[in-house]
Amino acid sequence: MNVLELQHLKKHYATHKAVDDISFTIPKGSIFGLLGPNGAGKTTLLRMITGIFYPDDGEIIFDGKKFDPHKDIHHIGYMPEERGLYKKMKVGEQVMYLAQLKGLGKQDAQTKIDHWFAKFEIASWVNKKVEELSKGMQQKVQFISTIMHQPKLLILDEPFSGLDPINSQLIQDEIFEMARNGTTIIFSTHRMEQVEEICDHIVLVNKGRKVLDGSVKEIKQNFKQHLFRIALD
Ligand code: ATP
Repeated sequence: MNVLELQHLKKHYATHKAVDDISFTIPKGSIFGLLGPNGAGKTTLLRMITGIFYPDDGEIIFDGKKFDPHKDIHHIGYMPEERGLYKKMKVGEQVMYLAQLKGLGKQDAQTKIDHWFAKFEIASWVNKKVEELSKGMQQKVQFISTIMHQPKLLILDEPFSGLDPINSQLIQDEIFEMARNGTTIIFSTHRMEQVEEICDHIVLVNKGRKVLDGSVKEIKQNFKQHLFRIALD
């Protein structure tokens, strides 16, 4: 079954076509790589999938039905590239606030906070202000905030930027575990080596258009050739 179907999506900024007729489908439980160079249209695409932007044209089908951002947002976890934490809030309060925004009750949220903070070894940060944490530390907090409500679809935009190898591995292991348990994951990046290591399927975009769509194995065989084409484009 497909969790997400994008049908002929389009989005432009003034006259610039940031996403220009992109379609693809994402099966349940897959780790799906959205790959493309800077400016390819990845973030614009993700913002439509998360309901931040309405498409100018095209359709999004989520879990078999027409996507309704107001309802479906509780089933989506989105970790944007630019971190969205409130710097002056304490870490524990921040994660509680975001969990409640996603529909968790206070007790349930607290149980989950205790679980994740222990698992990620950050329990001692609860009373620190977000601004006291390094970029990588904030990233761990943001990741926990994004997965706490157990989304059906988890969208990660460059989740490893600024993370050291140990913490990258921690998050990578969690991504694999979630996919094994049926969560569908979109992993957006411009780094092929990360996609190769983590994803089972890739869509390659460039200048708002889909260039390739296939399994990692298929795309790896022709990747250099396609990069060369993108460079000439
Ligand atoms: P990156 O990997 O650098 O984050 P991206 O693939 O996420 O890039 P987008 O941020 O979606 O790409 O941008 C796609 C295109 O749309 C780019 O040419 C960008 O300059 C343009 N663009 C993005 N946001 C805006 C905006 N708010 N107004 C005008 N143009 C924009």
